[in-house]
Amino acid sequence: MNKWEVNVRRVVPYTPGEQPEDKDIIKLNTNENPYPPAPAVREILDKFDISDMRLYPNPDSEILVKAIAERYKIKPEQIFVGVGSDDVISMAFMTFFNSDKPILFPDVTYSFYDVWADVYRIPYKTCPLREDFTINPEDYKVENGGIIFPNPNAPTGVLESVDMIEDIIKSNPDSVVMIDEAYIDFGGESCLPLIEKYDNLLVIQTFSKSRSMAGMRIGFAIGSEKLIKYMNDVKFSVNSYTMNTITQICGAEAVRDEKYFRETTDKIIATREYSKKKLKKLGFEFPDSKSNFIFASHKEKNAGYIFEELRKRKIFVRYWNKPRIDNYMRITVGTVDEMEALFRALEEIVNE
Ligand code: PMP
Repeated sequence: MNKWEVNVRRVVPYTPGEQPEDKDIIKLNTNENPYPPAPAVREILDKFDISDMRLYPNPDSEILVKAIAERYKIKPEQIFVGVGSDDVISMAFMTFFNSDKPILFPDVTYSFYDVWADVYRIPYKTCPLREDFTINPEDYKVENGGIIFPNPNAPTGVLESVDMIEDIIKSNPDSVVMIDEAYIDFGGESCLPLIEKYDNLLVIQTFSKSRSMAGMRIGFAIGSEKLIKYMNDVKFSVNSYTMNTITQICGAEAVRDEKYFRETTDKIIATREYSKKKLKKLGFEFPDSKSNFIFASHKEKNAGYIFEELRKRKIFVRYWNKPRIDNYMRITVGTVDEMEALFRALEEIVNE
C-alpha cells in the first residue's frame, strides 16, 4: 500500500442494476417505465437550439421548479431538484444527517442508504422489518440522528399508511424525517400534505419511474422553505450547475402532461394486478405491492436459480444474495407482452 492511500476515503460502492446493450433483452431489473416519456418531450428535443449549449444552465433549474410547484400546488421555495433522486437523497444526507447519533432505516430497504451513510461517515442503525416486511413504528421512537425509508418500500413494494408515517414524524420533532416516494405514483398515498404541518419532513420523488425519464436524471425533494434553503446552501457549495438545460426543459414539459402521466401509471397498475394473479398461479408468493415491481419468492424453486434461468432466456430481473431476501426476485412490471414472455419462461422453469 502506498503511503498516500492511508488518506483515501474508502467506501464499498453501491452496485447499480445491469444496463445491457442488447436490445433483445426483456429488461425487468431496474424498475424503469416500459412506456416512453410524455410526447411533448420529443417536440422539445426536436426544437432545441444547440447553440444554447454554450451557456451554463440555470443554476436554480427555475423552469422545472416552477412546473413542479404548479403541479403540486406549493411554493417554488419548497422544492429542491437534483440529478435523479439519488443526487437529491445524497445531498439531503450531507445536509441533515450530521449528528453523532445514528440515523435509522429498515434492514431491508434501498441498498444505497448504507452506502451514503458510509461515504459521509454518518453512523446508522437498521431497524428490522416485521416478518411480513412491514415497518414497526415503535422502532423509530428512539434517539436518532435522522430517519429515512421509502414508501412504498423497496425492494419489497410494501406501502405504509400516511397515519403510521405521521405517528413516526410526530415522535421525532428533533430529527429530519425523509420519506423516499420513488414509487408512490403507482397507487400509494403521498405524505406531501404533511409538509405543511411538519417543518422537519422531506418528501423525495423522482421522474425515473412514473414519468419514464430514468435516463434524464431528475429527482426532487419537497419540504419546508427552511429545509430547502439548507439543502440549496450545501448544493451550491458542491456544484452549482448540476442539472443540464435540456433536462430542465424536458422535465418541465413532462410534469405538465397530467393526462399522459395518469394513462401510463394506470396501465402499469393494471399490468401489476394482472401479474400478481399469474404469479400466484405459478406458485409464487409475495408481499402485496403498490409499486411498479413485485418481490416474489417461489414455494419450491430457489430464487437465485430462477434468476439465472431467466437470464439464459434473456429476461433480466433483480436478485440479491443477502440475508432475509436471498430467496426473492424483484420483478419490474413491464408491458403486458413483456410480462407474458416472463410468465411463459417461468412456467418452463418452475415446472421442469
Ligand atoms: N429511491 C429508491 C427507493 C429507488 O429504488 C431508486 C431507484 N434506484 C431511487 C431512489 C433513485 O432513483 P433515481 O435516482 O433514478 O431518481
